[in-house]
Amino acid sequence: ATQFVIDGLKAQIEGKEILKGINLEIKGGEIHAIMGPNGTGKSTLASALMGHPKYEVTEGTASLNGENVLEMGVDERARAGMFLAMQYPSEISGVTNSDFLRSAINARREEGSEISLIKFIRQMEKEMKTLEMNPEFAHRYLNEGFSGGEKKRNEILQMKLLDPKIAILDEVDSGLDIDALRIVAGAVNEMRSDDRGFLIITHYQRLLDYITPDFVHVMMQGRIVKSGGPELAHRLEKDGYDWIKDELGIVD
Ligand code: ADP
Ligand code: MG
Ligand code: MG
Repeated sequence: ATQFVIDGLKAQIEGKEILKGINLEIKGGEIHAIMGPNGTGKSTLASALMGHPKYEVTEGTASLNGENVLEMGVDERARAGMFLAMQYPSEISGVTNSDFLRSAINARREEGSEISLIKFIRQMEKEMKTLEMNPEFAHRYLNEGFSGGEKKRNEILQMKLLDPKIAILDEVDSGLDIDALRIVAGAVNEMRSDDRGFLIITHYQRLLDYITPDFVHVMMQGRIVKSGGPELAHRLEKDGYDWIKDELGIVD
């Protein structure tokens, strides 16, 4: 079974320390939710784990089945099974969604074992159907002119096709209407397996009504300051974050 261990992760952006020592262990089959006020480093955590060049890791490790992904290049991390559904997916003009998806799949495979075009199209069409995406999205340029919700659904399409071991979803619920939220949550629930762990960053309990997390973590000022079960998300929805700040003596 998959095991992902983040140990003492510190990271900075342009010399400013954002992550101040993150510890987190995700086992295959588990869903971890991270919640927290704006600007506390949730997206930074996601980007640092994926190897975004803007974020400099200064300390710590993140081991996927014993291998430190922080020492790997970006492509290598994807091949190892890391996946991020971005908070703000990039638009790439001139590259169709289907071309992008096929090269992403092939980048994860050994040279000489690329997916056949027929097989790829069959898989893509099948997954697009389950996500209730209009088939025309295969031929559109990547995310160009997609609505917020369409971008999010497209990130989930990528996740399904890439079949990752660790899936990080950064505010995948933002911009989704109720029907799309159900579809996205359904895809996550369907993908739950012993070989895959999820890290779901969200501001809202609403998503967690559809995806029941095993653990909920609160991130503040670059640290995980509190962890609990699903009840913690309900408390945050009801009472906000002030009570945690009071409890911990955090002043901001
Ligand atoms: P969250 O996702 O929790 O809302 P972020 O990780 O996006 O927070 O941001 C954490 C902090 O890092 C914020 O103060 C933000 O302004 C800063 N930050 C994030 N990305 C950049 C960047 N590319 N350049 C400069 N500062 C950044
Ligand atoms: Mg935010
Ligand atoms: Mg964010």
